[in-house]
Amino acid sequence: VRRLVLILGDQLWLDNPALADFDPAQDRVLMIEAPGESTGVWSHQARITVFLSAMRHFRERVLAQGWPLDYIGLEDEPEGHADRFTDRLARCLQRIRPVRLDVCECGEWQMQQGLEACATAAGVPLHWHADTHFLCSRERFARWTRGRREWRMEHFYREMRREHRVLMDGDQPLGGQWNFDADNRKAYPRTGPGWIPEPARFEPDDITREVMALVRRRFAGHPGSLDHFIWPVTREQGLQALRRFIDERLLGFGPYQDAMWNDTPYGWHSLLSVALNLHLIHPREVIDAVEQAHRERGEQALPLAGVEGFIRQVLGWREFIRGVYWQEMPGLREANHFGHQRPLPAWYWTGETDMACLRDAIGQTLRHGYAHHIQRLMLLGQYALLAEIDPRQVADWFLAVYVDAIEWVELPNVAGMALYANGGRFTSKPYVASGQYVSRMSNHCQGCRFRPELRTGPQACPMTTLYWHFLDRHEAELAASPRTALMVRNLQRLTPGERQAIRSQAAWLLDGAAASAPGAAHGPG
Ligand code: FAD
Repeated sequence: VRRLVLILGDQLWLDNPALADFDPAQDRVLMIEAPGESTGVWSHQARITVFLSAMRHFRERVLAQGWPLDYIGLEDEPEGHADRFTDRLARCLQRIRPVRLDVCECGEWQMQQGLEACATAAGVPLHWHADTHFLCSRERFARWTRGRREWRMEHFYREMRREHRVLMDGDQPLGGQWNFDADNRKAYPRTGPGWIPEPARFEPDDITREVMALVRRRFAGHPGSLDHFIWPVTREQGLQALRRFIDERLLGFGPYQDAMWNDTPYGWHSLLSVALNLHLIHPREVIDAVEQAHRERGEQALPLAGVEGFIRQVLGWREFIRGVYWQEMPGLREANHFGHQRPLPAWYWTGETDMACLRDAIGQTLRHGYAHHIQRLMLLGQYALLAEIDPRQVADWFLAVYVDAIEWVELPNVAGMALYANGGRFTSKPYVASGQYVSRMSNHCQGCRFRPELRTGPQACPMTTLYWHFLDRHEAELAASPRTALMVRNLQRLTPGERQAIRSQAAWLLDGAAASAPGAAHGPG
């Protein structure tokens, strides 16, 4: 075998650069399912199913090309034997003895190290191919960071808009403005979200059903449910999901992307992260289809504000986050700016908390393997920050529970954006808010036993108490930054007695993890 082309579970496209010039007469494709990938990182059953099913569907595509393929299935090797991905790869390299191993850049720093070590040990030269799935290469991002003290998504995004000619009118941004964020922050009306068109749902086919049976048997103790599995596992399905989103849901995405409501797991969101992250569809085709729909249908049918808001997520945030990951690893995994050491409350795995917002967000996470951005950032991530939880434990949780979780995108979002664990390398301030924000952006607080406006006392919202406690604890640091100085000024208006009461209540919450148990005890006083 001249070249052995290894295709990883999140590289499922025929344009994979490692497959360029593939010659079936001399080359082979290798795909490996490894149980360690689901247990080394604790994993939601739907997440395991997404990966395995998409890989098995891609196996069919490779075979349809007439290409020779070695596919190592999860149960092809005796249980417990060679469970780790790299153990399985090492055995394949020994057996196949290729002249060269070809791989597209992977989505995880640890995996990259593992592959290199494995190839070196086997004496097989490893050839990395730059991942053309992204519009901004790792080198391009590194160049962008050079000489910049602060990395700001907005600056990066504008360069990407110009460079890739997205939403441009000559050399000016379409509509005369780069950013329409101010139009995109609405809560749902007080009467509720009303009718939201359904996202595309894909009934499990035979392959997916077989994988589900395997996952239920082999990973029975893993969190999450498979009862609501709707995810695309092929390119065709990814494209259908994109089409459905543009035709029916993009219109509401813009204004309501930050809104939350009980039992509304998907809102107007696109649910495209799985198809994108597995490389089933290319971000460029997503961006082009959305821009084209706007240009063809016009401002009335698809306003620019929402279209720009969506493209900002894909061309801006997604590319930026990936660049940050490769610049900041391996340190990002250890980053802990505030030195937080508390363990993750057990109820993150069950949703059994009296806080209605977190109960809803965790509940849907376990049911669907999905929560939208603001739920992840301003509920689950923010609570973990305010409750002083060890960032490593938080990152492990996020990596486990979401169907779209791959470390390159999960870790910068968790450690960098939600927890400020890297000390604000790319965010200008910690994302913190009291329960009042949740109350404004959702209906969770109605019917919750806590009251978002109360800082102390038996009915105080833990999010609110811990928000004020966070300001109190980090007063000097927050006062020194113009972005957070105003928050601190509000804190400084409180009397010493009020501040002491916040400290006591926070200590009681944090030490007793009091809000965790259903029907937990009341406050300290
Ligand atoms: P939409 O809201 O419809 O957005 C469209 C697309 O934009 C997404 O599919 C995604 O590809 C991209 N996007 C939007 N925001 C981001 C962002 N902050 N970073 C990167 N891409 C973005 N995304 C993941 O794909 N995997 C993760 O494991 C993940 N973990 C996260 C953890 C935290 C704490 C936070 C705050 C965000 C995380 N995100 C993650 C980003 C974002 O929340 C998800 O991409 C999004 O919720 C996926 O749902 P959607 O496809 O309906 O997205």
